[in-house]
Amino acid sequence: MAATYIVLLGPPGVGKGTQAKILAEQTGLIHVSSGDLFRENIKNQTELGRLAKSFMDQGELVPDDVTVAMIKDRLVRPDCAAGAILDGFPRTPVQAEALHTMLAGFKGDTNLVPFINADPKMLVERICGRWTCKAKGHIYHEKFNPPKVAGICDLDGSELYQREDDKAETVTNRIKVYMDQTAPLIDHYRKQKKLVEVDGAQPIEKVSDELLAAIKKVVK
Ligand code: AMP
Repeated sequence: MAATYIVLLGPPGVGKGTQAKILAEQTGLIHVSSGDLFRENIKNQTELGRLAKSFMDQGELVPDDVTVAMIKDRLVRPDCAAGAILDGFPRTPVQAEALHTMLAGFKGDTNLVPFINADPKMLVERICGRWTCKAKGHIYHEKFNPPKVAGICDLDGSELYQREDDKAETVTNRIKVYMDQTAPLIDHYRKQKKLVEVDGAQPIEKVSDELLAAIKKVVK
């Protein structure tokens, strides 16, 4: 059976990470988040982590070549043999092209690109109230999706923290970078008839129901 690759597209704070985790659980595909991979490298104090941090702290994108190499390393691992839910990658036209070439090498291609969209005004509120678990990156929001006990992850009991780049000063630039560099991918995938638009302002369960229905149509 051919592998399945789903690319989640959408602005920062729209809920890609939350949805990717749900979809991975429901489909059995592996969640591959470029942001999580960078944060893991920062935590482990690797060379890649040091490099990535200098861009992430400014809300800028990590250079394409470095990002593409990291994703390729992840996708060749055996647990991704059946495919992956890509969250945060590709983020530029160069990365989209590199992904296409990479997947062709695995005799696959991007099957579906759900585009989770929302009003930019909502994104700032979503990002600034976001808390992330230290152990596994589970995501909460102080208003929309609070943990049962403040500051503690419901799922693994680890401490919640606010990402450095989720602070107000950086968020505006992340949204601008998205508009300039990532938004062109919407048309790119629309032309390929792979885009499915989902309203990210809906409750989490409604968004995941719509995403799962779209995935079921392309994954036989
Ligand atoms: P995220 O967790 O997806 O919001 O990503 C956090 C930060 O990691 C971004 O603001 C970028 O600095 C960096 N990053 C994540 N994915 C990519 C990517 N595909 N290309 C370049 N930089 C990325």
